[in-house]
Amino acid sequence: MKQTASVTSQQVSNLPAKNTINKRIILHSRPIGMPSTANFSLEEGRVPMPNDNQVLLRTLYLSLDPYMRGRMSAAESYAAPVALNDVMVGGTVSIVVASLNVNYQTGDLVISLNGWQEYALSDGNDLYKLSNVRIQQAPSLSGYLGVLGMPGFTAYMGLLEIGQPKANETVVVAAASGAVGAVVGQIAKLKGCKVIGVAGGQDKCAYVVNDLGFDLCLDHHAPDFATQLANACSKGIDIYFESVGGKVFDAVLPLLNTNARIPVCGMIASYNNTSLPRGPDRLGLLMSIILRKSIKMQGFIISDYYAQHYPAFVAQMSDWLAHDKIKFIEDITEGLEQAPQAFIGLLMGKNFGKAIVRVSQY
Ligand code: NDP
Repeated sequence: MKQTASVTSQQVSNLPAKNTINKRIILHSRPIGMPSTANFSLEEGRVPMPNDNQVLLRTLYLSLDPYMRGRMSAAESYAAPVALNDVMVGGTVSIVVASLNVNYQTGDLVISLNGWQEYALSDGNDLYKLSNVRIQQAPSLSGYLGVLGMPGFTAYMGLLEIGQPKANETVVVAAASGAVGAVVGQIAKLKGCKVIGVAGGQDKCAYVVNDLGFDLCLDHHAPDFATQLANACSKGIDIYFESVGGKVFDAVLPLLNTNARIPVCGMIASYNNTSLPRGPDRLGLLMSIILRKSIKMQGFIISDYYAQHYPAFVAQMSDWLAHDKIKFIEDITEGLEQAPQAFIGLLMGKNFGKAIVRVSQY
């Protein structure tokens, strides 16, 4: 039976005017190394109209995330690349502006996957309705792309499921001022751990300690970063939350304790690499440390955890936010046209907090 049978005229009454333009940012070419704005192209087209069972969404906020660099590349990964001339992928918070789906009304707010465009269609199956959660406890709608969304959920699952923190353990968090790292460190503090962040620059480090409550934060640009980390971790490292790789991991490796855990969340330092780094080959060293110290190192992809754990996460995180136990900042860029530059900035460490684009006003 078609669901359109009970759709009311009110549900389709809010369609944008016929001449409304849909701006979209497409992948124009695949980058070699660091992307440039020339890899993207801004297109203008007609707003698509919903057919049976579909909703038309207007994008309010677009999330910019490091994984998008992987989607720009044709290399094999856990998800298919964006095809050339297709709209860039991306998580969004959107409003339903027209509905032919009985489960959605105009005005509903949803987490969606519109990508880098102003309007998109959905059959409803990939949407998460925000009325299902305690929206009054949300710090802002854009929070559903950060602390209450995919990055916050990544921090929560990676630390609690894989990291298994215990009181008084030492936790080192890479990219500590960012969307994932900021939440990892704050949850680790709630679990009674000693938490050391690693971030790029004094301003980010000051924020991580003074605002987020980490015990210490070290600047990975410092020439003696490895020595500073060794001095800070006098009892070794029990959990290293890995988001970066490169020289940060090199500094962490000799400090790992027996039975240390490493949730491998990301490797942003190598996302723009075009070949493996030059030798010496340290694979043997890594494997022997993992073996001798019974280290657990586990990669994870957060999309595998949604069905089972996301509602419980939202409930827990909403409670922490309501009681001021978790803080966060957002780095909001105005306008879809600015998304490529803001995304490149993210890959260069220019974002300060969760990177978000405000695409249209609520
Ligand atoms: P952030 O908000 O932390 O932004 C990225 C940050 O990475 C930059 O601000 C910069 O911070 C840091 N960075 C960039 N290049 C380097 C470098 N060469 N060396 C050290 N640090 C660098 O991003 P997210 O919190 O959204 O993501 C963090 C990580 O988590 C990424 O690796 C991402 O891919 C991963 N991730 C994985 C998921 C999964 O399912 N496994 C899901 C979500 C995210 P700074 O200036 O402090 O160096």
